[in-house]
Amino acid sequence: MTEEQQKTGQEMGLMAHEHPQWDDFIDRLSGPEGCNFRLAVPGNKDSLTWTCDSDGGYQLSTQILASMGLRPDEIEESMSYFHENGGCCDCEILFNVAVPLDSPEESVESGQ
Ligand SMILES: [Zn+2]
Repeated sequence: MTEEQQKTGQEMGLMAHEHPQWDDFIDRLSGPEGCNFRLAVPGNKDSLTWTCDSDGGYQLSTQILASMGLRPDEIEESMSYFHENGGCCDCEILFNVAVPLDSPEESVESGQ
């Protein structure tokens, strides 16, 4: 028998949507110290490029989380969270995990 403990706001160990610094993390992961999203050809959106070590090692995010003060075990928990949510490498965290949890369904895309 386990007593369910509602941890609200406390013990926010792993980096997740609920974490107060989630936005900060996503920001840094997409920036120069992370995947470094950038246009190879300035002004050309099709030339978007970024850095990703796609072996699933989460090298970039690990570094950022460590510098944000997470403990190694917390970082590991975060990685499983990312993995469960479709982020199998650093850039996929941005593509698949960084989306809002309850994004409204936009089936109708017209205002006119
Ligand atoms: Zn990637």
